[in-house]
Amino acid sequence: MTSVLEVRNLSIAFGGLRAVDDVSFAAQRHRITTVIGPNGAGKSTLFNLISGALMPQAGQVIVDGVDMTDAAPERRQAAGLSRSFQITNLFFELTVAENIRLAAQILEPASRRFLPLRASTRARAKTDEMLERFELTHRRDELAGHLSHGDQRRLEIAVCLASEPKLLLLDEPTQGMSHGDTANTAALVRSLTDDVTVLLIEHDIALVMDLSDHVIVMHQGRNLADGTPQAVRANPAVQAAYFGQ
Ligand code: ADP
Ligand code: MG
Repeated sequence: MTSVLEVRNLSIAFGGLRAVDDVSFAAQRHRITTVIGPNGAGKSTLFNLISGALMPQAGQVIVDGVDMTDAAPERRQAAGLSRSFQITNLFFELTVAENIRLAAQILEPASRRFLPLRASTRARAKTDEMLERFELTHRRDELAGHLSHGDQRRLEIAVCLASEPKLLLLDEPTQGMSHGDTANTAALVRSLTDDVTVLLIEHDIALVMDLSDHVIVMHQGRNLADGTPQAVRANPAVQAAYFGQ
């Protein structure tokens, strides 16, 4: 099996608003699948349904062949799903290293998980590895709240990856970033596919076209188009609804 995530006919409405409406797609292993669409299209809600923050009114979420539709977020996490948020989920009052270490703690065998953090050998090694890989070693003892915006978003990806997930959901990781930071983050996301499958929400179209193996266009809660970046861009329905041409 090559798909790590399969979403089947997923729907949720808030009152009369169909935020996610009969959406189906699959995310292939070690590929970058990107969800695009205008504000309010339902992208973050789709992520909430996949991570278990919201329960769908219809449809299924299959993670690595296992039906997780009714599973709590913790069970999905244990099955290898990790996500970042459009609004940060870092602990600003903890250091950079502590933020990563907390997430890496899940790698410890259950019998060691409640030992003091300094006794957690695997989590410590993972923390050092992540600091190195994300070029944050020199900031390890700074409070996360004191980092620049770009460093915070990078730390957030490091935190997500520290638990060694199979599937990584990144909600607008380049939001508010400078041009340089955006390019660095793109390179970083590309390098992640050696280890994980990436499902991305991204608004920078040039970046989407460059980075994605597969693009899903959402519009008013629906999956309007789905295919390679080139195919999606050439799709007349997408051009009319999204590119405004
Ligand atoms: P996107 O991430 O594509 O900008 P969202 O998924 O955040 O869009 O929102 C899709 C639609 O659902 C929007 O109209 C939004 O206002 C609405 N919405 C999102 N979450 C909720 C909620 N918890 N309760 C009510 N409406 C919501
Ligand atoms: Mg959103």
